[in-house]
Amino acid sequence: MTLFSQPGSTISKRISEIRQTLPASVRLIAVTKQVSVDAMRAAYNAGIRDFGESRVQEADAKQKQLQDLTDVTWHLIGHLQTNKVQKALEQFQWIHSVDSLKLAQRLNQLAELLSRKPQILLQVKLLPDPNKYGWSISDLFNDLPALNKCEHLDIVGLMTIPPLGLNHQETATVFQQTRELADNINRQNQPRIQIRELSMGMSDDYLLAVQAGATMVRLGRALFGARMPQE
Ligand SMILES: *Cc1c(COP(=O)(O)O)cnc(C)c1O
Repeated sequence: MTLFSQPGSTISKRISEIRQTLPASVRLIAVTKQVSVDAMRAAYNAGIRDFGESRVQEADAKQKQLQDLTDVTWHLIGHLQTNKVQKALEQFQWIHSVDSLKLAQRLNQLAELLSRKPQILLQVKLLPDPNKYGWSISDLFNDLPALNKCEHLDIVGLMTIPPLGLNHQETATVFQQTRELADNINRQNQPRIQIRELSMGMSDDYLLAVQAGATMVRLGRALFGARMPQE
């Protein structure tokens, strides 16, 4: 895979412009899939301390080259296969893409063995979407009691990606409903599941997400420019 790089000055300008549109409390995660380590260093120099990667292997290669950046937090935002759970726990402090009970239980098992306590977000689908992983609302409510038993995970948030092709109003509604879902989960009396983080909003819709209460936005193209089409 070829990794691309915009001039550092362009990246730094985009980051400061976007930062100004975000409330200070919103965490800006720079999504660095397909982005070169040089561009990542430019983002770091512009103040970024959170990197989001979709793939365990790509992140591994970059982390080896960025070991000197010791105050970076790494976020896994792509689908995680159960056979990569151990690597994921070693490499990421946050996992936004926990999308099934089976995966959560595997993470819980290995987190205990490895003495980790990862921050976990549950990926939810507010609308049916065959192209996305994630819990439907009813499946998630069914699984909450079992998730609540995963005592080696800190389940602190929800993550969502609206389906492609929605208009602004529909997208805003997905984000608002995700926020309401979080409130509803918090009323269920599952003491270990307290949702306080909402990871929602990408380059085209992050302002709508922030209006709806996002606490973390995941931006790739808005910071680094267009990626090559994947797959
Ligand atoms: C790629 C990706 C992003 C960033 O998307 P942009 O449109 O480049 O901002 C955010 N979240 C997830 C889960 C992604 O895979």
